[in-house]
Amino acid sequence: MTRLLRLLPLFLLFAAVQAHALPRSEPVPGGVVVLESDTPVERAWLGKRRLAVLPSDRGSIVVAGIPLSSAAGPVRIRLRFSDGREQERTVRIRPHDYPVQRLVIKDKRKVEPLAEDLKRIRAEQKKKHAALATWSGHIPDLSFRWPVEGIVSSRFGLRRYLNGKPRRPHGGLDIAAPEGTPVHAPADGTVLLADDFFFSGNVVYLDHGEGVISYYAHLSEKSVRPGEKVRAGQVIGKVGKTGRVTGPHLHWGVYLNGTAVNPELFLDSPNPP
Ligand SMILES: [Zn+2]
Repeated sequence: MTRLLRLLPLFLLFAAVQAHALPRSEPVPGGVVVLESDTPVERAWLGKRRLAVLPSDRGSIVVAGIPLSSAAGPVRIRLRFSDGREQERTVRIRPHDYPVQRLVIKDKRKVEPLAEDLKRIRAEQKKKHAALATWSGHIPDLSFRWPVEGIVSSRFGLRRYLNGKPRRPHGGLDIAAPEGTPVHAPADGTVLLADDFFFSGNVVYLDHGEGVISYYAHLSEKSVRPGEKVRAGQVIGKVGKTGRVTGPHLHWGVYLNGTAVNPELFLDSPNPP
């Protein structure tokens, strides 16, 4: 009984943290850092990037996305409290070795785009950056459900070679599923973009609030329009193979403070349904 009583405060702390449905803190490049503050935080930054701040029973919780390109070592997170005081917290980023992945893309133009494609790609990059810079005050639910039934085919962060050429690391999680499989919103949100991109094919971007954005690529169909509010579990499109792909799958991206992070950190179960 005494032992139980001793464990009780620990349990209550755990329950309090769980109530806010936070991602797992994994201080690695492409990972997430979760900081707690007993004093309410008004704003927080990592360098110039504004960070998501969530209210908690005890104060605030700050959630920072660590860029994949970050070096291991200390990073400083700056907090500004409601009374105007500021504080810096140092977090040590651990090194993480992401595996190499070599893919063969049959459509060579999707690896070495033509001049006319580059023009289109640049215009799409602008739309993407505008979407990722969205900041709405809505408090996000950071306990995501898997957006699709299927099999994980490529994990986040893989160092990619396409047709033997080094390309940007994999900024999302790939889930292979038959064409037409419904894709669901992992949490409540607002549709920012529903478009057709050169590399990503049919895409949908969702804003969950506080700079938390999720992204769905290679869809065969989009079922939502920009500005539309969606609920967790609502169908937003269907799995396809549009854009640069080797087969039908969902590419799922999650962004915090404008940086791509590992979507698996937001999920409770290790495998899709
Ligand atoms: Zn992908």
